[in-house]
Amino acid sequence: MKSWTTKNGIVVTKLLSGRSNVFLISANTNKILVDTGPGRVWRTLNRRLMDLNIKTLDYLVLTHAHYDHAGNAERIKIVFGAKVIINEYEAPFLRKGGNTPTRGTNPFTGFMVKLLMPAFSSLVIYHALEPDIITVVSTDFEIIKGSVYVIHTPGHTPGSQSVIADNEIAIVGDAMFGVFPGSVFPPFGLDSEELVRSWGKLLKTKCKLYLPSHGSENSIELVTKDYNRRNEKNNILN
Ligand SMILES: [Zn+2]
Repeated sequence: MKSWTTKNGIVVTKLLSGRSNVFLISANTNKILVDTGPGRVWRTLNRRLMDLNIKTLDYLVLTHAHYDHAGNAERIKIVFGAKVIINEYEAPFLRKGGNTPTRGTNPFTGFMVKLLMPAFSSLVIYHALEPDIITVVSTDFEIIKGSVYVIHTPGHTPGSQSVIADNEIAIVGDAMFGVFPGSVFPPFGLDSEELVRSWGKLLKTKCKLYLPSHGSENSIELVTKDYNRRNEKNNILN
């Protein structure tokens, strides 16, 4: 399992990787899970947590209400006692085990969402649950005073949020991807301009590393480069 340590000793571990990443933040005795992967990875996720001798989790932060992020949220809450944190815009979807609407950001993914998703909609439902803490768009939510907090980073979905550790590491959900060479732009997003504004907000934290839910980590240099390029493009279009 790959892990990163901040200068104040907060450890971020990539518990699951592949299609959907799951991250564990360990800050002294506090344990915070970020996202859960889809339902089918439950056994592996459970085993990884047991391998690390983790019996309880303080919090589960859901970056947004999509089945490949919240698929095991109910089980994490029941088995590990985690308090579930989600944004106010995503909470209604979590309560019914549904997916917050998004759309494709290129012709291919646009086609996928419009034409193929309805056929697969029964495959992307997950166990509904009641969140414990609902974050609001206007205020950052501090989980550990002075070191770990949640910020609203909309665009992929209206209530997408990211977790910041020590202003060094950002866990960004689907606000960025780590799959395509030279770009962090996700293939799905409801509002592309808002998404790029969220990158600006993330860059303001001065984090050096941006961990997406899909693919590998992005450096501040790559995010800055893509942010500047997208802004130039938007300025020309507007
Ligand atoms: Zn998503």
